[in-house]
Amino acid sequence: MNEELEFGDISGKTFRDIAHQAVDWIADYLENMDNYPVLSKAKPGDIKSSLPRSAPETAEDPGDILSDFEKIIVPGITHWNHPRFFAYFSITASYPGILAELLASAMNVNAMLWKTSPSATELEETVLNWLRKMLGLPGTFDGVINDTASVSSLCAMTAARESLSMAIREKGVAGRPDLPEFTIYTSNQSHSSIEKAAIVLGIGQENVRKIDTDSAFRMDADALRKTIAGDIKEGKRPVCVIATIGTTSTTSVDPVKAIVDICHEHGIWLHVDAAYGGSAALLPEMKSHFDGWERADSIVVNPHKWLFTPIDCSVLYCRKPEILKRAFSLTPEYLKTEEAGDVKNYMDYGVALGRRFRSLKLWFILRALGRRKIESIIRQHVAFAQELKQEIEAHPEFELLAPAPFSTLVFRYAPDGAKRDLNALNEDLLIAVNRTGDLFLSHTKLHGIYGIRLAIGNIKTTREDIALAWRIIQREAARNALK
Ligand code: PLP
Repeated sequence: MNEELEFGDISGKTFRDIAHQAVDWIADYLENMDNYPVLSKAKPGDIKSSLPRSAPETAEDPGDILSDFEKIIVPGITHWNHPRFFAYFSITASYPGILAELLASAMNVNAMLWKTSPSATELEETVLNWLRKMLGLPGTFDGVINDTASVSSLCAMTAARESLSMAIREKGVAGRPDLPEFTIYTSNQSHSSIEKAAIVLGIGQENVRKIDTDSAFRMDADALRKTIAGDIKEGKRPVCVIATIGTTSTTSVDPVKAIVDICHEHGIWLHVDAAYGGSAALLPEMKSHFDGWERADSIVVNPHKWLFTPIDCSVLYCRKPEILKRAFSLTPEYLKTEEAGDVKNYMDYGVALGRRFRSLKLWFILRALGRRKIESIIRQHVAFAQELKQEIEAHPEFELLAPAPFSTLVFRYAPDGAKRDLNALNEDLLIAVNRTGDLFLSHTKLHGIYGIRLAIGNIKTTREDIALAWRIIQREAARNALK
């Protein structure tokens, strides 16, 4: 081992050399994505078997580490930043975001208290205000950045429980005959994170009422109203309703305007999960999907989904930040500061004490792209999806399984007189398409029908990428049908 090459060499020379190599690698990687199969071709255990069973006793050569990164780790990477990654929700670590992550790591800020980095706190306040205005939300909403929407929704639902003023924070829920049975309402299309939050909060999966949806997979507001009324009659206590703008399977949009009226009638907290769809609120032509969300109690939007921000960055907006604070603030002696009262300490608004400096990347992205550019990219993604939608609808052997209000399509191959079960046929088609390495799609099931999902959201995706994907899907479908 050459001592001069140690990563721990704080003289910085080694770091500078290796960092330049790493940045060159990043630039090459991002420019030459087509050289990589989108979905990793690794088999289970491939990566583990290439790695030593124990950590090294002594420092290793940084060049060797980088070279193993390329040889061992990269082949086991599914390339989320690839323009033909269309699975789940397609995302982007954009250049400014990557740079900001590098700088944030260098400073290694823990944004828990104002004092632990005034810039981190004040930038988070500022950037979330910028984003709030871009989304068209009123100034009554206060934002906080969490790692994921799962955590943002958990925090919102904890605040909803706290708003009941039943001393649950202090006394818990176990062994309390004074407490009613709690209920939560969401659609049968909402994300699993809502049910998970109910588990964590001690409310229980069985008390999550999954309200029926209509033919466009939107929550049936009348069914919601009846279910709430029935539960109240039985002495149950609704904690919150979770509406979704852009559900995971189909990106359907719940009728938030009608739902918020029901919530206000009964004084129930409304949380809106716009983790994916929220970014579309930037577009004036999309405003109708967001009707009523400005009257919700809390909203989650994930910049790490459709706002070109490297994972992780989830924004929770809350109209009653004082309740969020009441739910979470707990300040031991060693975290007390003389400025308390004059400043925001973000540790007071969520579960985590330690917090990454996530606002830096959002700030870089909003500045480096600017509102207009961001709008135009999202608009283009929607246009690409709508163009492909038309092709699918016009194709005699494919069918669309759900409306596509944003940039995600759900469809299946359904040739006339197919001899095979269509679910099995489409499952095989998805495997065949993904095996090409040219694109990556995922799936869902709608009323038992297997559907292929294609989500557009990467900043580098072009019309040619979509055309290539569609050609491959048709080619593999024709091949697969003959088997
Ligand atoms: N809500 C919706 C509508 C989602 O689609 C997802 C993930 O795809 C989530 C929440 C969870 O997001 P996260 O991975 O940030 O927890």
